[in-house]
Amino acid sequence: MRLRPAHVRTRLTLWYVAVLALVLVLYATATLAFLRANLLRELDNGVHEAFEAVEDRLRPASDGALRLEGHDDPAERSIFVEGWSLDGKLLYRSPRLGQETLGGPAQAAAPRTSVGSVTLRDGLPLRVRSGIRTVAEGRRVMIRVARSEEQLRHEWRELLLGLTLGLPVAIVIAAWGGYWLAGRALAPLDRMARQAKRISADNLQDRLAVENPDDELGHLARVFNHSLERLEQSFGQLRRFTADASHELRTPLTAIRAVGEVALQERAEPARYREAIGSMLEEVDRVARLVDSLLILSRADAGAVLRKEPHSLLELARGAAALLEILAEEKGQQIEVEGDDVRAEVDALALRRALINLIDNAIKHSPRERSISVKVRRAPSGENVIEVEDDGPGIPQEHRTRIFERFYRIDAARSRDEGGAGLGLSIANWAVLAHGGRIELDTESSRGSTFRIVLPPSAIGERRVS
Ligand code: ADP
Repeated sequence: MRLRPAHVRTRLTLWYVAVLALVLVLYATATLAFLRANLLRELDNGVHEAFEAVEDRLRPASDGALRLEGHDDPAERSIFVEGWSLDGKLLYRSPRLGQETLGGPAQAAAPRTSVGSVTLRDGLPLRVRSGIRTVAEGRRVMIRVARSEEQLRHEWRELLLGLTLGLPVAIVIAAWGGYWLAGRALAPLDRMARQAKRISADNLQDRLAVENPDDELGHLARVFNHSLERLEQSFGQLRRFTADASHELRTPLTAIRAVGEVALQERAEPARYREAIGSMLEEVDRVARLVDSLLILSRADAGAVLRKEPHSLLELARGAAALLEILAEEKGQQIEVEGDDVRAEVDALALRRALINLIDNAIKHSPRERSISVKVRRAPSGENVIEVEDDGPGIPQEHRTRIFERFYRIDAARSRDEGGAGLGLSIANWAVLAHGGRIELDTESSRGSTFRIVLPPSAIGERRVS
């Protein structure tokens, strides 16, 4: 099982302490090694100096051995000396060494000078410098001079002790400091979390306080606020949509009820009943159309996936026009579909729905006996364009930006009479946007209105139809 502290604060502190401890241990080790090397060098220098001094002060003694001049000098109490003839006879040994040796007689292959360590029986560590020198009367002698390493070891041990005791104290202080710092650094997050917890669907207008907009937490708060803003907008849209949809559904239902009630109250001719049932069915149709539109939009909102296949846009436009032919004929209008046989990867159902809505609007708003034109072409930029042009009153400037909104109608009463709930253009707009395209409203046109579907360039070619 992997242990993982639940709180970021604890995790941060543990990481901080672990890294700091590692750095401190490395630093202490390096310091100890450096100090040891330095002390050893100093000691070796001391041994070297003592060796030089001893070399000059070894004199022949009466018994053929050697004696050390001034060996009782208090300054040299810490020095140990040994002299060996090259044939292995002990010529001199500091009295304090007793029977112990600094390394014995010279080996045959002994280097001229060497430095090493020996430990006496009582545990005293010595640094020994050995060398073969010519002393009094030209005798070649192996001289060994030693100094105690005790001082060096003592100093080194003291530092080691200091570091070993100090390190945990330093780490504990650092851990406390780290914990406190992490707490301070994370406190704004905690405050943000508490504020965010209080925000629900009822108070989506509330925002998190941005303490410092330039730091990371400020950035987080701003991003969160931005999300809240979008959420608030979406909620608002949803509320409006639900309210509008209920309202739109209520109107025909009220009408059905009213017509039914009136028909029931009076004793009337069968023809009168038939008329009532007819108008009730008309309202039912309206409800059905509205429910269809709502379904399309809710699927669109849920992220409906397009089934794109290569299609002739001209054929699609002709198909949509054919479906509305009867409506146009009722008003004595003609729908003219012409243009290039542009082929593109589209979802035929979605695009046909967009075209039907645009042509239906054109029929509704054009005067009787006029023609409606649908043109298909490929623009020089490679975009595929379908234009639906009518002879209607056009769309006043102030409504142009809003007509694609859901339930938006220029003249609500008239539009409702014509069966529209203000969803036609928003459905068309969704279908085109889902293809990566856009719907433009041509404001320059001298005729009524021109709605232009612009689809992004498609890899599929075209064929000119005359
Ligand atoms: P509806 O489904 O009620 O027709 P739409 O979303 O299709 O609603 O259209 C929104 C509004 O835009 C309508 O109320 C209508 O007044 C206006 N409109 C749409 N197309 C045209 C057009 N071709 N000419 C004039 N006005 C139009």
